[in-house]
Amino acid sequence: MEFNKHLADIKSYEAGKPIELVVREFGIDPKDIVKLASNENPFGCSQKVQDAVSSIVKNMALYPDDSMLKLKNALAKKYDIETKNIIIGSGSDQVIEFLIHAKAVENATVLMNSVTFAMYEIYAKQVGAKIVRTASQEHNMDEFYELYKEHKPSVIFICTPNNPTGDAIDAQALKEFIAKIDDDTLVVIDGAYMEYAIGKDKSKKITPKEVLEGFNNTIYLGTFSKAYGLGGMRVGYGIASEPIIEALYKLRPPFNITTLSLEAASVALDDEAFVEMSIENNFKEMKRYEEFARTHSLKIIESYTNFVTLCLNEGQNSSLLADSLLKKGMIVRNLSGYGLNAIRVTIGTPSQNDRFFELTSQLL
Ligand SMILES: *Cc1c(COP(=O)(O)O)cnc(C)c1O
Repeated sequence: MEFNKHLADIKSYEAGKPIELVVREFGIDPKDIVKLASNENPFGCSQKVQDAVSSIVKNMALYPDDSMLKLKNALAKKYDIETKNIIIGSGSDQVIEFLIHAKAVENATVLMNSVTFAMYEIYAKQVGAKIVRTASQEHNMDEFYELYKEHKPSVIFICTPNNPTGDAIDAQALKEFIAKIDDDTLVVIDGAYMEYAIGKDKSKKITPKEVLEGFNNTIYLGTFSKAYGLGGMRVGYGIASEPIIEALYKLRPPFNITTLSLEAASVALDDEAFVEMSIENNFKEMKRYEEFARTHSLKIIESYTNFVTLCLNEGQNSSLLADSLLKKGMIVRNLSGYGLNAIRVTIGTPSQNDRFFELTSQLL
């Protein structure tokens, strides 16, 4: 059978291995498995969210409120913006899908960092767009600007802090860059880890309000999957000027967010204490990873997120290390597919991190 010719060039996204798979493949008891592969919150989610969701679980016959006003109002309040500037997606992934399909056409150019979130490329290739990447591993706004002038891209992805490297862009430099971009180029700021960056260094902070007030060609993306601990609920959002939001709405399937997910995300925004606790643990534990890297002479990329990227030395192999850890029930992300001899490790609870240090010391 022949398919859409653009699909031939796409490698499907490989998600972090789920715990269920390690149970099946290696017969390890689920309680002995530690998953530090997908940047999920190791503390789960707020108790308030669990209570709210269980109270509505009995009423699932009705379609969700497709206006999503409860969640939009909560986001509007948090960011001091208006609900008309918000679109909710099944994860911010779905908003990325909408914006590519809304803006990029066959042979259009999509510009992104040399190493960055894999889904940008996958969605761009679905429409037959060409991918242009910068050379440097970290976002370099001068390189972005040179490539912008040369290729006139339809869409520019800026992932700050960046996944899978963890580095973040200075907010002032980013705003100066966007100010030089024409109105017909869609700039995407993917802030999936912004809560963590703000917890570490305010100079990395860029808010949806600043984006809205400063730029009508820019969309800010956020997610409930990371700091809010709701990866399983699939809720993310985009915040942009009305014309952008209206265009994206034309691509949205009806009822794209379930009743449970809408409730979970709305209530999660009410429990900032949970997020603060998570961020505090994160940076406290990150120091232990830095120490671990020093002890084992590994390079660690300065991270503004809830994960660290450990670069291995010559003679060490990230695929081998990740596989050996997996067999012991420790799931981390091998970055060889990104061209890096490195592993990405989500910062877990203190005891999960102990386990990582213990196993990895034995293997290195
Ligand atoms: C996790 C992540 C997302 C989106 O996750 P969803 O679960 O789809 O909301 C988006 N961008 C980056 C860089 C991420 O790491």
